[in-house]
Amino acid sequence: MTGSVHAALGAAIGRFIPNKPLAFVAGVASHFAGDVVPHHDMGPGETPLVFATMARIAQQHGLNSPQFWGALGGICPDFEHIPAELKKDPRRHEPMDEKLFPTHNGRVAHGGWSWPEGWGIAMQVALFLGGLYLAGTLGKPKQND
Ligand SMILES: [Zn+2]
Repeated sequence: MTGSVHAALGAAIGRFIPNKPLAFVAGVASHFAGDVVPHHDMGPGETPLVFATMARIAQQHGLNSPQFWGALGGICPDFEHIPAELKKDPRRHEPMDEKLFPTHNGRVAHGGWSWPEGWGIAMQVALFLGGLYLAGTLGKPKQND
């Protein structure tokens, strides 16, 4: 999945796991599931959307919320892509032995997408909005008093 979808799904899981460390671990587990199911990826160009999603989750639920910790767990595994991206390593879009996460080093197959691209994008948008909806992140900002 795209990073913002990982964040949204992690936040949704966090809503139902009030224990923050557990929400974080469940977010990491959701990353695994999100990488394995067939999906259409968007690449590092969507990084600003990941930051915006995390900022919105923090705004709505706070940095100390299980939603935020679930979302952080959801995106954390992808942080290991950053060094190869910065170095513009030609192998960066393929599985690399140096990476730890099983769906990133090829030990577990990363889901591909063999249907029309539009459906792949539609699925990402649906999971993104559905995740944020389940997390309680959509709608008016919560009043903190
Ligand atoms: Zn990943």
